[in-house]
Amino acid sequence: MLKFFKILKAVILLKCPACFEGHLFKNPHLFNLKEIADMPAHCPCCGQDFVVETEFYYGAMFVSYALTALLMFLVMGLDILFSGYLYFKELLLYICLLLLGWTYWFRVSRAVWLAFYIYWLQPYRDKN
Ligand SMILES: [Zn+2]
Repeated sequence: MLKFFKILKAVILLKCPACFEGHLFKNPHLFNLKEIADMPAHCPCCGQDFVVETEFYYGAMFVSYALTALLMFLVMGLDILFSGYLYFKELLLYICLLLLGWTYWFRVSRAVWLAFYIYWLQPYRDKN
């Protein structure tokens, strides 16, 4: 269980899910849109391969969809739970906030997808 939280922390901080130290992206700034998807080929700390295969990160789209849906259901559900009603202006506010953070969700989705690969699918990985 402790390892799960270490992986979760690495994903949230956009660090390497294998060693929890190396940065996943070349440019840490979230609003530099030209380099939003640029990742080093390998982790600078542990050598974990970040480019597993061609078009590997297409699967991160599904993670992005699930994370976005979960976040919106959670936020809107709490709003409805506490206020009893979801106003249209609130819905627009939540959508705007989600759109403002899309670069972070984009990167988190890639980090989750890579962590999923490393811990469940990668061959020859030490499972400790
Ligand atoms: Zn690493």
